Amino acid sequence: MVSFILTPCEICRIKIATQSHHRFPQYKRYRKLYKNIIDESFNIQKVCIDCHLSGKVETWNEKEFIEHALEEGYRVQMPKSLRCNTFK
Ligand SMILES: [Zn+2]
Repeated sequence: MVSFILTPCEICRIKIATQSHHRFPQYKRYRKLYKNIIDESFNIQKVCIDCHLSGKVETWNEKEFIEHALEEGYRVQMPKSLRCNTFK
């Protein structure tokens, strides 16, 4: 028997969430770098199709993704290009 847990959309909180939106996009290059961390729950927003298509979803750039991943305890490295350059 297969059962599904119905979760309300994280944005409108009215409709049922049927989609998993990746805050940080799952492009090939990123998937190669960060592998399955991209699919971890902190990067996923459960949304209904309307909100997903509406553009109300949250999006992270690479730096934001890494900051959140580090907060969650994942061992990821900030690429050199994204680090602050304090010493010039
Ligand atoms: Zn929604």
